[in-house]
Amino acid sequence: MAKQEDAFKKVVSHAKEYGFIFPSSEIYDGLSAVYDYGQNGAELKNNIKQYWWKAMVQLNENIVGIDSAILMHPTTWKASGHVDAFNDPLIDNKDSKKRFRADVLIEDYCAKLEDKAQKEIDKAAKRFGDAFDKAQFEATNSRVIDYREKQKSILSRMAQSLDNNDLADVKALIEELEIADPDTGSKNWTEVRQFNLMFGTKLGASAEHAMDLYLRPETAQGIFVNFLNVQKTSRHKLPFGIAQIGKAFRNEIVARQFIFRMREFEQMEMQFFVPPGTELKFYEEWKQKRLNWHLALGLGEENYKFHDHEKLAHYANAAADIEFKFPFGFKELEGIHSRTDFDLNAHEQHSGRKLQYFDPERNENYVPYVVETSIGLDRLFLALMSNCLKDEVLEDGSERTVLSLPPALAPVKAAILPLMKKDGLGEYAEKIFDDLKYDFNLIYEDKDSIGKRYRRNDALGTPYCITVDHESLSDHTVTLRDRDTMKQERVAVSELRRIIDEKTNFRNLLTQLS
Ligand code: ATP
Repeated sequence: MAKQEDAFKKVVSHAKEYGFIFPSSEIYDGLSAVYDYGQNGAELKNNIKQYWWKAMVQLNENIVGIDSAILMHPTTWKASGHVDAFNDPLIDNKDSKKRFRADVLIEDYCAKLEDKAQKEIDKAAKRFGDAFDKAQFEATNSRVIDYREKQKSILSRMAQSLDNNDLADVKALIEELEIADPDTGSKNWTEVRQFNLMFGTKLGASAEHAMDLYLRPETAQGIFVNFLNVQKTSRHKLPFGIAQIGKAFRNEIVARQFIFRMREFEQMEMQFFVPPGTELKFYEEWKQKRLNWHLALGLGEENYKFHDHEKLAHYANAAADIEFKFPFGFKELEGIHSRTDFDLNAHEQHSGRKLQYFDPERNENYVPYVVETSIGLDRLFLALMSNCLKDEVLEDGSERTVLSLPPALAPVKAAILPLMKKDGLGEYAEKIFDDLKYDFNLIYEDKDSIGKRYRRNDALGTPYCITVDHESLSDHTVTLRDRDTMKQERVAVSELRRIIDEKTNFRNLLTQLS
């Protein structure tokens, strides 16, 4: 555990030291769970967005992208159910005065039971070697079965209590399981209360005419209310999708995990509109497509798993999370939900406008069903940073820190480094920079020893360093150093564009998806 915490702390400090993420308004001591992206963070974020947008909009003929406003008519949130039900159950510890999400305390307890089951499985795998049959062991080992059954019964009781708004039972469950404040060990809890996560604001200049609004807690509703506008103007037939990237705001009760849980964050969502009765087929398809999108990043198949929801939200008929192994364990990275016709129906009722589609094949009007994929951009950012940040001991015993980001996502594609500024090397390097800057985001650095500059670019995740030396002036070649292998080779300046493009083009990721 301590090791994991250290690894997480290292990610946070690296993100700050190398201009990826800063605490918001830091000179005023920051604002809790709000962060700013620095010069390298903004580039990485933009590249993640591009990867998502290209995979959704550019590769799918039947998906279009929009950019709807953050502020929406307040009835939107009444219709969507957020005003009445976008609540989290909170509980305070009377001794430590710390606030927790009651459901998360219980889920963390269950995650520990799963860890215990996993340990039994790992032990047996070691004992039996190649002859180990994991599925059979999981189905027959009494301890693994007990741990899993206990988890199942706890989670289903919690889901039922939350559904029935029986908060006393959620507290009773915490007490029965003897769950303690993880930091202090205290079991002295308050009652559980519901807390609405939406941020309110006002529209209008004078107090008496101001209208109460909310900052959107999800981007999806901007898509639902525009469904007909987009369908009519794009002339797409069902099934078709609308994609969007944008900010969302949630007044989270507990936000102590850096950019994993923020109060202002960014979502990348796609709503896929389908004929009723076909939604589960598309749901399964999108689950797989989204997992493949993640796997193409090369962070390791073992770091992802599906978590199928047993207890579904009232509007869903199937739902799953793609979980990623963050430094603090497997947690939700993306949700895939079959949302039925709940949202469009609700908007029809509240607006009095028809939100129906005429299906020429079925020769009927209906409200489409929706399959949604929803990923937190900041969570993917954290997944990448934590997975790609490595300390390596080299053959000569020296150490380096490297951020082995997928090259297409790296903030800087190449660093142009004159060995020294004088003797015309600086000018020659600038010429290379000026020639390549139209195609790639580059940096030019002429300070510090070349070794230091290499290390700095490794830590930024720059795939290539290009060193200009005296030979370059006469034979027009440079030293090209690869971030991952650290191999250096001599290449012609005229070849640089092709080489960098081959390594960093989005095509490398996107072609894995078809
Ligand atoms: P959680 O259970 O972790 O609170 P959620 O189920 O409420 O998440 P959704 O409403 O399904 O999340 O939102 C879709 C995605 O948006 C999530 O998978 C996650 O990646 C991201 N997300 C949600 N809340 C936050 C947040 N506070 N900070 C950063 N990303 C978030």
